Amino acid sequence: MIIANWKCNGSKQMISTWFAEFTEKYASKEGSYIGIAPPMIYLEYVKRIIAENSLEIKLGTQDLDASNGARTGAISAEMILDCECNFSIVGHSERRQYFDEKNSTIKEKIHKLIDVATPILCVGETSEENKNNLTEEVISKQLEVLEGLNFQNKIVIAYEPVWAIGTGMTPSKEEINEIHKFIKDVVQSSSINSLRPRVLYGGSVNEENCENFFKSEFVDGALIGGASLDGSSFAKIVTSFNGSYK
Ligand code: PEP
Repeated sequence: MIIANWKCNGSKQMISTWFAEFTEKYASKEGSYIGIAPPMIYLEYVKRIIAENSLEIKLGTQDLDASNGARTGAISAEMILDCECNFSIVGHSERRQYFDEKNSTIKEKIHKLIDVATPILCVGETSEENKNNLTEEVISKQLEVLEGLNFQNKIVIAYEPVWAIGTGMTPSKEEINEIHKFIKDVVQSSSINSLRPRVLYGGSVNEENCENFFKSEFVDGALIGGASLDGSSFAKIVTSFNGSYK
């Protein structure tokens, strides 16, 4: 599973160029899950281009709101379903940092979303927490938002160390593998039906380093920010993933 998070980037022109470059390099593989989370205002535009090119790419949102009605600027889980989105990112560190999102809000969002689309829950420690060996403690706390959910096989976790996002730094592949196993174990042991979730890695993944991560036993794919803004780079990452697709 490879997900592009375009964040607040792009324009119609950029998106047209992106797809022209992507389709030139992209080789699809049955069963592999590729998704794009564009800025919400471009969802329909991206959807049209995907359909015109007969591409097997799922669409998702970068966030949602747990309520509807008098919530200016927000979108609801019902709208995500209505627009045939397949997934939504929830609890990205930028939402936690710039929009002051707490675990309690993230929990409400996931509980709303779970019935209509796949939540991709982002977890990860700051640089400070990493230095103080608090990674597992922080992640365990963040995973508590899943308590009480019957998530079948829908839930996906993205391990995104905050210090690795957009910085060019990454943990080693051994460290990533270890944390992914930890996340799978924690979710499985707290899941009522013993579900072992897919876990994606996110943080400075690019076409050069991606293969290294994809070969790891507990890495089920990647959530990609910066490198997903270039259609050709993203196609190369997807191709690398498809080559090591388990
Ligand atoms: C992200 O913000 O989800 C992310 C993974 O960003 P980048 O790939 O740019 O580090």
